This record gives sequence, structure tokens and C-alpha cells, in this order.
Amino acid sequence: MYERAEARIDLAALRHNVRELKSRLDQRVELCPVLKADAYGHGSLHCVGAVAEAGADRIAFATASEAVLARSVAPDIPMLVVGALAPGEIEMAISAGADVAAWEPGFIATLADQAAASGLVVGVHVKYDTGMGRLGATDPELVLELARTADAHPNLRLAALWTHFATADEKDTTFRDLQRDRLAELGERARREFPEVKLHAANSAAMIADPACHFDMVRPGVAIYGMDPFGNDPADHNLRPVLSLHSWVASVKDFEPGQSAGYGRTWTADRDTRVAAIPIGYGDGVRRGLSNRGEVLIGGRRYPISGTVSMDNITVDLGPDSAVRVGDEVTLIGSQGDERITAEQVAVPLETINYEVTCGISPRVPRVGREGGSPEVSGSR
Ligand SMILES: *Cc1c(COP(=O)(O)O)cnc(C)c1O
Repeated sequence: MYERAEARIDLAALRHNVRELKSRLDQRVELCPVLKADAYGHGSLHCVGAVAEAGADRIAFATASEAVLARSVAPDIPMLVVGALAPGEIEMAISAGADVAAWEPGFIATLADQAAASGLVVGVHVKYDTGMGRLGATDPELVLELARTADAHPNLRLAALWTHFATADEKDTTFRDLQRDRLAELGERARREFPEVKLHAANSAAMIADPACHFDMVRPGVAIYGMDPFGNDPADHNLRPVLSLHSWVASVKDFEPGQSAGYGRTWTADRDTRVAAIPIGYGDGVRRGLSNRGEVLIGGRRYPISGTVSMDNITVDLGPDSAVRVGDEVTLIGSQGDERITAEQVAVPLETINYEVTCGISPRVPRVGREGGSPEVSGSR
């Protein structure tokens, strides 16, 4: 019996997804799952171990402290920090033994100094902004210049040139193809000087949609967690959702017409009915935008979130004849019997993406690693 709510992390599904994605790659292409933002809200520590076990060649993070945390459970796996590092974070990244991303001459100089001071050699992935318009050097000549700097310094190792796609999840592939071709073209020039330099570009969407985006390594994030980068059904790509989110019924009450549930009285019973209160709310990451719009599963059936989502509770209209009892398990993401609520479905009324749904589950909700999915329809807790 758990307190209030828990997120179950199906490590068998995670390993399945890693192997499924790996099976789509040529043998020489590295698989580098992205475990940033606490593994997209899934809990970095248990995910890192499972991903490494299932055959990831390298793992990526956005920050140095994410890499340091993961290093405590995965002593050997190569790592890459893809995000911007403040000068004060460089030492942390180096101490974790992670490769780092670079696109600024000043940054590379600081990196080289700090690597020299530590007596270590740091792998550098020079980022080329081929159209994302965010991090990376836009000028290909500057990318080559930075590659030369990294190659020449005894404490730096030029590892790769890389880019990131802006539109890989869209139907129209024109811009993705343009970005891909820009990297390929620069890569060809770079390899005349640095025959060993690697190229990488693909996120989940590009990896699934276009093998020509694979280059020497792919960096899938969302797909690893069994979510669909295109926002549809992950089963379309033989991916299994890793996270499920659960709570339980704390109260069931009879309502008469005109009786309301929750703050602001945004929902009022229009018939005799029963209303359940469930101890999970926006303080746990169930977004307030789901008020009168979201659904939950109880006893293998769907019920509407009725009334305003509060910080610690939601209320659900069970209908007049419901057999739901105090203690019954509630599933907010995941399946019960034949019914299923995916993160993709939760995202729709919120006008957001599945990524934000799982990243938004707050630290108040414990992440519990387990083998296999949530139990079938369960009765009492
Ligand atoms: C987050 C991220 C990824 C993974 O993207 P998905 O869409 O989740 O597959 C890949 N590369 C970089 C640089 C990222 O920041």
C-alpha cells in the first residue's frame, strides 16, 4: 500500500524499447538514449541501469549534475552532456568522465584549461546549428575551426560533429532533410582533415522516420520511454509505455442534483450520482487544465475528472450505479483491463506533448521500478 500516488516504471518495457530501437540500426551505428530531466520524469537512477543493461552504447544528459548522478550507478558507460555548461559545471562533467558539447571558442578554451588542470582528456562534440536556431555554431567554417582547436589540444579529443532537428516529428520532411544534408556536407569536408570524426543528428522522430538521419549515432529520448514522438500510439512503432501513474479512491459520496465538487464549483451534479475523491492533484503533476477534461480508470472503466483539479486531490463522477469503493486503485496513465490512458491522450486536452506530461510529474510522486506492467484490474488496495 502506497501513500497517495505512485508512478510505476516498467523496466522490462524500457529494456524492450532499447532493444527494439537498437534493432533498427546498422551495427556500426551507436545508440545513445537521452536520460535528461530525470529520464523524462521516469527517475534517472533505475532507468540508467536498465538502459545500459539493454545495450545502450552511450547515454546523454542535458546537465553535468545529471551525468554525475548517473555515474554513481553506471560506472563504465560512455556519456555525453548535450546542454550548455556554465564554467562552474565543466569540472563536474569532466569528473563524471562525460564528453561535452561545444560551439563557442571561449568555452573550448576554458574546457581545455580545466581538462589540462585535471590531467584528463575530454571528448568534444562540436555542435553545428543547421536550423534549430538555438545552441550550436551556425557558420560551418566556425564549426571546422572549433574542430581543429579540439583536435590540436592534448587534453581534448575531437569526438563528433552534430546537430539537432527542429521539425523531425512533422509530416513535411523538407526542413529535416535540409538540416540532415547540411550536416552530411560539412561532415564530408571535416573527414578530409579528421577521418575518425563521428556525426550524429537523430532524435526519436528522425531515427524512426529516416535511416539516412542515423549517421554514426542516434539520440532517441521519448521513444525509449515507450512514448510516440509523433504523438499517436506508441504501439505503432512497437514501443511499450514505461510509466504508469496511479492513486486510489479515498472517499465515495452520494451526490444529489445541484451538489458541486471542488473549488469554484465548476462541476455540479445534474442527477443523483456518486463522486470519488482521489488524493492526487496538481502538486503531483496532474495539471489543472485537466479539470472537467481529463479521465481516469477505476475497476477497468473510464471516468471523467469532474470539478477543478486541486493541489492534492481530484474528484471523479462515478455515475449512480457505480461499484467503486474506497481503496480501489485509480490509474491516471496506464492500463486497467482493456482500457488504457496514454501520455499522448493526456496531452490532447492540455494542448501539449507527451514529453511534458511525464516530465511534469512532480518529485512528490515516488517512482517505483518494477518488472512488467501495472496489474490487471485490481480490487482493493
Ligand atoms: C532531448 C534531446 C534529444 C532526444 O529527443 P527526443 O525527441 O526525445 O527523441 C536528442 N538530442 C538532443 C540534443 C536533445 O536535447
